[in-house]
Amino acid sequence: YSAKDAKTGVVMYDPQTLVHQPNRLLLLGDLRRALERQDELALYYQPKVGLNVDRLCGVEALVRWNHPVRGMVSPAEFVPIAESTGLINRLTVHVLALALRQARSWLDAGHEIPVAVNLSPRCLLEPTLLDTVRDLLTRHGVPARLLRLEVTETAVMGNPTLALETLTGLHRQGVRLAIDDYGTGYSSMAYLKKLPVDELKVDRSFILNMTASDNDAILVRSAIDLGHNLGLTVVAEGVETAEHVDALRLLGCDIAQGYHFARPMPAAEVVAWLRASGRETRVAV
Ligand code: C2E
Ligand code: MG
Ligand code: MG
Ligand code: MG
Repeated sequence: YSAKDAKTGVVMYDPQTLVHQPNRLLLLGDLRRALERQDELALYYQPKVGLNVDRLCGVEALVRWNHPVRGMVSPAEFVPIAESTGLINRLTVHVLALALRQARSWLDAGHEIPVAVNLSPRCLLEPTLLDTVRDLLTRHGVPARLLRLEVTETAVMGNPTLALETLTGLHRQGVRLAIDDYGTGYSSMAYLKKLPVDELKVDRSFILNMTASDNDAILVRSAIDLGHNLGLTVVAEGVETAEHVDALRLLGCDIAQGYHFARPMPAAEVVAWLRASGRETRVAV
């Protein structure tokens, strides 16, 4: 399913052929069915916590698939399958709808909680995305500023012109945008400057080693400085220890997300977590 270039040794990876792998083919059929029935897919929510003022800054919605036979299937496994077959657009609409319905129900309970949804590369090239987002915001009665969309640099650089157009359209609607997994893709600083993004999320691989490796600490520091110089809010993902928190605070990082604060959890647990953690339920947006 991959071909190795004899001269360079580089493994070429063709997403189109992924569907021919038996396991993937089975999962693909099951995913299609799951999207029709809509009862196996759910969202978990992971808090993002302010490092200056200790409060909830929002949550990231992470899709979970409770497969009837296989149990929990990781999004790292099925999102790429959806992405390589075009099923991703239906998955994304479903996730957006669930996330906005949840944001609305938190609003009704008196909690203004911004919700972030991940967008796959292919969605960024989907001409109907702008209308879909606008319709869903209206239908669920959620102000655009409470929706955050996360995209990776690689997704943007795949088709910079079209991506810029889509992101600009979303931003005009009032939706906030984040660059996800910053540092792992091939980044173009020139482009980063042009993009109407509000937030830079430093990839968890750099946070993981920042207290042990000087190189990773330097990378995190420069990502934070770059973000701030571009006027962006900087979020560290994969914050697992109190040492990470201290180091990030010293570097001036704005927001943290990770197991140290909370694992992704069902919506019903979020407000309880908020109360138990003693953080404000009214968030600044
Ligand atoms: P991501 O957007 O970078 O999301 C963060 C991932 O890191 C999540 O994995 C989260 O559970 C995990 N994580 C958070 N804190 C920690 C920590 O302290 N330590 C460690 N080791 N991990 C932590 P998850 O939920 O398995 O999702 C994996 C990826 O799948 C996401 O990475 C995102 O790219 C994708 N994904 C998830 N949900 C969706 C979705 O609804 N749509 C799309 N297109 N992609 C999604
Ligand atoms: Mg994300
Ligand atoms: Mg991320
Ligand atoms: Mg990541």
